[in-house]
Amino acid sequence: MDIQLLEATPNPEEVICRAARNDYMSEYGAEQSFESVMEGIEGETTEEKQRTLISHLLNHGHFGPFEHVQATVHVKGMSRSCMAQITRHRHVSFDVQSMRYVAFDDVDPADVREGELVVTPPSATDPDWIGRNQKGGAVDEETVEKRREVFAESVERAVADYQELLDLGMPPEDARFVLPIGTEVNVVMSLNARMLMHIADMRAAADAQWEIRGLTEDILALAEEWCPITFEQYEATMKNRKNRLAP
Ligand SMILES: Cc1cc2nc3c(=O)[nH]c(=O)nc-3n(C[C@H](O)[C@H](O)[C@H](O)COP(=O)(O)OP(=O)(O)OC[C@H]3O[C@@H](n4cnc5c(N)ncnc54)[C@H](O)[C@@H]3O)c2cc1C
Repeated sequence: MDIQLLEATPNPEEVICRAARNDYMSEYGAEQSFESVMEGIEGETTEEKQRTLISHLLNHGHFGPFEHVQATVHVKGMSRSCMAQITRHRHVSFDVQSMRYVAFDDVDPADVREGELVVTPPSATDPDWIGRNQKGGAVDEETVEKRREVFAESVERAVADYQELLDLGMPPEDARFVLPIGTEVNVVMSLNARMLMHIADMRAAADAQWEIRGLTEDILALAEEWCPITFEQYEATMKNRKNRLAP
């Protein structure tokens, strides 16, 4: 999976602070400089004041201001299984690569065997990998080699069958029924900072599956560059807790 930030609200932490300060100001804040809006907040510099205010908001569960800033990310090659999980989050906007208008007719099934087009779960190749719902613990090399072979055979055959159905004139949206749930898809998703923290509460947690955990961690890493005070604090003090971001 590859992920890139396409677009994000500029100066997100100024927007968050302006929104929060609006709630307690009698004057109209849009006509004031940011320095003036932040007057009275503890801190020597405007950045320190932002830290103070954002920290206060996060500690006190005042999450509304974090809904005003949004990021759009482009994800390459998540599995359709992971897509089914992430698209359950209703406050995220998605665009999903179509299997009606995009046909995978030029992929060589032999390459699919080697990892193209279908995501290979680590449990198919790593003897030490222990999945949450796995029966038993680590397995020997021989068993994993067998798993790898069964998995590779299965996905290669599925893609070969799909392409044969296309050759027989079946429309792509029907031929796709034989493709595995691990088939890769490119997705554009837009979400606000509060929603990202909520998703991280659920999907960066130990009981989430490895792929959506990886996706969430990657988005969090991008968010830490885009909106640093907020996501550094999320990482340091809120992650792996139930923060009642969506009570
Ligand atoms: C480890 C794990 C296992 C899961 N297993 C399954 C499973 O087996 N089967 C399955 O179907 N799902 C499963 N889910 C999905 C889960 O049940 C949620 O549907 C999904 O995570 C979306 O999160 P959310 O409910 O917080 O809603 P979001 O869409 O992220 O919405 C955020 C918040 O907005 C509020 N909200 C949004 N819409 C409504 C509404 N219509 N009514 C009231 N409040 C609303 C809620 O407070 C909600 O928490 C699993 C999730 C996890 C993390």
